[in-house]
Amino acid sequence: MDWQPWLRPAAEDPAARPATAADALARLADGNRRFRADAAACGGVVPGATAPPRQAPFGVVLGCSDARVPLELVFDAAPNQLFVVRVAGNVLGDECLGSVEYALHSFRESVRLVVVLGHTGCGAVAAAVDTYLSPKHAAGIAFSRSLRTVVNHILVAARSAALSLEQVHGTDVLEDPNYRAALAELTVPLNAAVTAYQLSVELGTREAGGPAVAYGVFDLLSATVAGPPDLAAVGLSAAPTAPEDLVDLGVRLAGSPLVTRHLHLIPGPFSE
Ligand SMILES: [Zn+2]
Repeated sequence: MDWQPWLRPAAEDPAARPATAADALARLADGNRRFRADAAACGGVVPGATAPPRQAPFGVVLGCSDARVPLELVFDAAPNQLFVVRVAGNVLGDECLGSVEYALHSFRESVRLVVVLGHTGCGAVAAAVDTYLSPKHAAGIAFSRSLRTVVNHILVAARSAALSLEQVHGTDVLEDPNYRAALAELTVPLNAAVTAYQLSVELGTREAGGPAVAYGVFDLLSATVAGPPDLAAVGLSAAPTAPEDLVDLGVRLAGSPLVTRHLHLIPGPFSE
């Protein structure tokens, strides 16, 4: 595994960046040659085999397309262990839900868990937060129906995050210079929680025999997957089972260091 792209992004390192489309294509072909050699060395390719391995993932993961969050690598999973659905903002559109349902139907013997994974610094969440704060300035998104579709899903969490911040810190929080950063930070776990809740409702997990649904947030700085509201340790949380759970989560996180480290929280003239 070459970790250099993580440590020093190719975009900032001309020597590591393919200069042309042909270079990029050659990079991919070289990568597949290495993968093929690794697969053969590990027994993933069986000489003389006439049928591919049977697909049998133990987990289904819905995560963001962000290049810094490669889902199999984040969980140190091998091929055929995870059925992965990636879409910007890890939102639950029809095709994503259909993909998850397909996996649950086709691999019911092996799948034990469905996971929604959000991540810090999510560009899709940032776009949704900006749209929520200033709809008239979100022109680039407004003119693209497909982009709007992604953002619209996340607006539910952005609004919930905004309400939580006001409930915990009062309307003064709106004047805080870092309000946007705090709102984006809070929207990330809430968006993952909302998606996990929607997924569990769609899949009927509260009925007997439904799959377990969990969710978490990947932190780009520490490479930790954590289950809200506890963001300090490695783990995943069970999907919220009611809308009230989402409100409780928003309030708990709004008062936590995740959010308060962004806010100045200077007492105003009318505060006690
Ligand atoms: Zn993202």
